[in-house]
Order: sequence, then structure tokens, then C-alpha cells
Amino acid sequence: MVKPNKPKSRTKKSKKTKVKSFTKHFFNRRTIWMFLCIGSLLLGVVLINQNTVSLESQPSPPPFDAIYKQSNQLIEKRVSDLLSRMTLEEKIGQMALVDKNSLKNVEDISLYNLGGVLSGAGAKPAINSPKGWQDMVDSMKNQSMKSRLGIPILYGVDAIHGHANVLGATVFPHAIGLGATADRELVEDVAIATAQELKATGVNWSYSPSLDAPKDIRWGRVYEAFSDDSSLNSLLGSAYISGTQRSSAGSNVLATAKHYLATGSMVWGESNHKKFKIDQGKTSPDEQNLINQYLPPYKSAVDANVASVMVGLNQWGDQRIIDSKSLVTDKLKNELGFKGFVVSDWYGVYEYSNVSKYQANINTINAGLDMAMLPYDYKTFIKDVSKAVKKGKISQSRVDDAVERILYQKFKAGLFNTAPSTTGLEKVGSVEHHQLARKAVSESAVLLKNKNDLLPLVKNTGHILVAGSGADNVGRQCGAWTVEWQGIDGNWTPGGTSILQGIRDVTGGNSLVDYEKNGNFGTFTKKADVGIAIISEKPYAEGWGDNPNPTISKEDLQTIERLKASSNKIIVVILSGRPLLISDQIQSWDSLIAGWLPGSEGAGLADVLFGDKPFTGKLPLLWPSSINQVPTNSDGTTHDKTKPLFQRGFGL
Ligand code: BGC
Repeated sequence: MVKPNKPKSRTKKSKKTKVKSFTKHFFNRRTIWMFLCIGSLLLGVVLINQNTVSLESQPSPPPFDAIYKQSNQLIEKRVSDLLSRMTLEEKIGQMALVDKNSLKNVEDISLYNLGGVLSGAGAKPAINSPKGWQDMVDSMKNQSMKSRLGIPILYGVDAIHGHANVLGATVFPHAIGLGATADRELVEDVAIATAQELKATGVNWSYSPSLDAPKDIRWGRVYEAFSDDSSLNSLLGSAYISGTQRSSAGSNVLATAKHYLATGSMVWGESNHKKFKIDQGKTSPDEQNLINQYLPPYKSAVDANVASVMVGLNQWGDQRIIDSKSLVTDKLKNELGFKGFVVSDWYGVYEYSNVSKYQANINTINAGLDMAMLPYDYKTFIKDVSKAVKKGKISQSRVDDAVERILYQKFKAGLFNTAPSTTGLEKVGSVEHHQLARKAVSESAVLLKNKNDLLPLVKNTGHILVAGSGADNVGRQCGAWTVEWQGIDGNWTPGGTSILQGIRDVTGGNSLVDYEKNGNFGTFTKKADVGIAIISEKPYAEGWGDNPNPTISKEDLQTIERLKASSNKIIVVILSGRPLLISDQIQSWDSLIAGWLPGSEGAGLADVLFGDKPFTGKLPLLWPSSINQVPTNSDGTTHDKTKPLFQRGFGL
């Protein structure tokens, strides 16, 4: 060990020596003793304080006969009794909606008194089966009931065309197909069936229907909407809401009208998202147009007692809609009389905001937001909002109003009365639901061209060739929001039929049906009687489907050419989430059907091809002939005022 250097001089102390002597002087026994006494005193004060805080934040449990627990009491009385028992933190917890995959521990549901959990973007249980879902949702619901006041959570999913996250569920046509049916009763039945499948798995909240009015086929969400027409959206939106919220066995599923407001009218090239072109962008209409064209479906939704309204990620002018008190509180709540609760879209409180998260919470809640789809960090949300209330940045009455709205819907839906689900799983993917879906597919098909009345075909047509990327691909039929957020390309779903299978079943051996995906049938001595090309878009969701030029893929165009060369007549079926630009090709086809995204029941298209069902579908939006015709106008005219390929409402 090396000895330390001697100090250079005793009179001129080095820095080190100065510190040493100070330390020696300072830490003599007497001062140490004094510090110990002060320290223990301070510690005592802190402990007493902490105790008070924890006592305050954990009041005693409510009596077993508290009014809010009595199912025979009026909902209003139950809500106000429950509200009067809640601490500020418990109230704010109810305003938080968390993605299932962002839950740190399942115990956090009761610890933070969370209002809702969702399965966003395909978040599912480890075993994706109806039973797996039931077990997962029930365990979360049970956890919520362990909170001091036992308030059940809402469990939300995007059941936008059936409970389609679940393997084995019935997958109905996407909304654009339902729009083509214009059939209020059918849409209501589809919603009832979907709600039954949701309820069977314990899910009590559906983020559907979309009331968007897409004006631009380049947008990746066209198919989620019924139509670009305000009155059709009002008619079918309210039917869907009534079906979803219809009560059975004392409880019902909550519906959500989305995405408020004027989502679908954004401007191409003005998305706020770095990778998107139009989704999550800027809404264009002036105030008069906004109110006259886009608000009426929400009026119908409110009249149909919709439980929740989701605010979109779009902005109007330079303001995000979620920040707009005049649109959210004044228009929706005060003017339209919306009594349900307002929920934000995914990360919608913070997305594209130019203020801190703390301030964004304040702005959106003050604008009228009731429940925040955070969907990640609930702890900071609860901390920030309670700080904001304590500082007077958000009023206590605004919080009470938000929580009152949420609780009211929870009581109304019977959430407090029902035991966790243990029955009903037989409804998921039941025969009746598949039959209903098949009917919906037939009704949604729109016959756009039919030279010499080629369709319907007779079952003993002779020789039929089937080809195309969508002919034997249930994943493409279903599109996105099916098991995975972006869908799955391929034949994977149990319980459905591809269109090829449907054609084989319906013709029942009366015709020879040959299939080759790319139309490579080799050389026949004689051409086939008919070639059916079923072409398709790959599945896409949200801005990932923004497309500057929605056309038929090169592969499918080649397939059609091959099929033409080997068949006497050619029928084209388009499976797509939007009208595709086809004016350069359509002349050479004999018949054309818009099949939209029909879902799991491909046989429904075979039914109309072979005359088991008539063609009744009508275009729910116009079919442009060129990209210069978009965005279209609310009155159903094209952007450049030229004639579209097919008008809205067209269908043979
Ligand atoms: C979509 C909503 C959806 C939500 C929850 C968002 O990205 O815009 O339509 O309800 O995610 O999955």
C-alpha cells in the first residue's frame, strides 16, 4: 500500500485538509446526537402524514345494502349514490380506458378502479377461441369487482363486421357491403347476432358502427362505412345501434358511433401521420357542410340512444376535433342531447397534440371528453388529472359529469346485475349466424354489368373456369379487422367458405368447375363456357390502406387475360374495400359484380351467381372512372363534375 503524500505546508492547508477538519468538527458526538433527534422527529411527521393520505384514499367499503347495489332502484338514484361514495382517484380511474396488452398487472384494474379495458389492434387471449375469450374477459371483470366499490369494467372490441377477432366467430360483410343492401332490418339482425357473439364471450362494448362518410376512394377506411350518403348512414347506423343495444337476459352490449366528426372528408396529402396520406388528417368541409352533411347521422344515433360516441383523430381547421368544445360539448351533448359518454380514439388525447400530456388531458376533458382511450399509461393519467382537478384546471363538476355518464351506461347495460358469462358460447359461429351472414353477402352484391343477361348462370352451365387472387382466399374475403388488425391473407378461418367452395357447393356437380389461381389452365380443345375471375385487394386497415391509385393488381389483370383466352364469356367479381379504377378494362368483360369484403360466407356470392338469390344490391357510393373524380361531393357528384363510371344507387 502506498503511503499518502505529506501535506506541503501546515499553515497553508490544502483543500483536502480543510474538508477533513471541517468534517471532524462538524461530526462530533453532540451534533450527531442532535441530528438524530431532528431526523426522528421529521420521520414521525412524514409517517403520520402518509397515514392520513392513505386513510383518506381508502375509505371503508360500502354497506352491502347501499342504494347503488339494489337493482330495483332507479338508475339515476343508483348512479348518484355510487358517485357520492367515490374518491377523486376512483372517479378518474373510471375515465381511463386501457389496452389489454398495456395492463401492467391484471390487479391494476381494481387497484386503479379502471373504467374499461379494450382489445385494440387484434389483442387477444393466449388461446384464441370463444372459450379463451370468455375466460380472459371474465377474469378481468372479476378483478374489477374486487375494487372497493365493485364497479364492473367495460370490455371493448372493434366488432366492426362480427366479433371477428375471435377464431370461430361469424364474419359478416364489412359495412360498405351492408350499405349496398340498404336493408335496415337485415343490418339490425346482423348487429343483434354480433352482439350475441360478443355477450357470449363477456364483451360488453363494441366500437361500431362507423358513421364515416368517405369521399375519397384513396382512403384506407372506406369499407368501414356504410356509405358516403348522410341519409343512408343515418338509416343503417341507427339500425345497427338498436340491434347492438337490444337487451336480452337483462343485459346488453353498448354501441359506439364513430368517428365524430366528418371523418371521411379529409384531404389527400394532408395526413398528420408521417406514413399516411389521408387517414388521420385534415377535415375539409366548411361549417355549414359539416353540420348539414356530417352531423345528421349522429342525430339519428343519439335518437337511437347510442351509449358512446368516439371522437376521431382528424382535425378541423387548425384544431383537433377532440379539443373542440364547440363540437363535442355544445353540438353533440347540448344541441343533439347526447346522454351517453364520449370516448377518444386510440391515443387520441395525445396524438398530434402540441402541448404536454398533462395539458392535453386538461384540454380534452374540458372540451367534453369523458373516457380516454389512453391506451397505455393509466397511472400518469390518473395522477395528472387528479393534480389538474386539485389545481382547479378541471372542475370537479366536469369530472362528476363524465363519471355519471359512464356509470349510467354501465347500470343501463345491466353490468352490475349480471354474473360473469358462463353460457352462450354456442352462439359464436352458430349455424343461424352463418346463414344470416350468407344472406347479407347475397344482398350486398351489386351487379354492375350484365351483357346479354349472362347472369344468373344456370347450374348446368357446362364447363366453368374459376381463377383470381380472391377465388379461394377467405382471408381476402374478410379483409382487415379479422383476427389481426391488418387481417390475414389466406385460407385460415374455420367455419367459412371461400367463393370457389361456394360455387362448387351451389352447382353441386351439375357443371365441371376447374380452378387455377392464376388462370393457367393449359390448352383445352374447346374453350370453357364461362370464366369467373374473382379478383381482390390485399387486406389493409386504417392509413396503411391509403392508396394513391386503387386499381386491379397486375397479377389479377394477367389472370383475367388468361381466363379470357380460355373461356367464351368472362365474369369479373371484385372483392375490395372500395371502388377500384377499372374503366380501361370493363369493356372487355361480359359481367361485373362488386362483392365488397363479404366475410366468411363466400357461398353468398355463389347464390347470386347461380340465381338462388336475386341481385338486389345498389352502390352505396359512386364508382369513379378516374382519380380526377375524387374526392366526390356530398350531393353525389364527382370532383371534376364529369360522369362517374356508375352513380351512387346504381345496381342492375
Ligand atoms: C381506430 C378506431 C378503433 C380503435 C380501437 C383506432 O385506431 O381508429 O376505429 O376503434 O383504434 O381499436
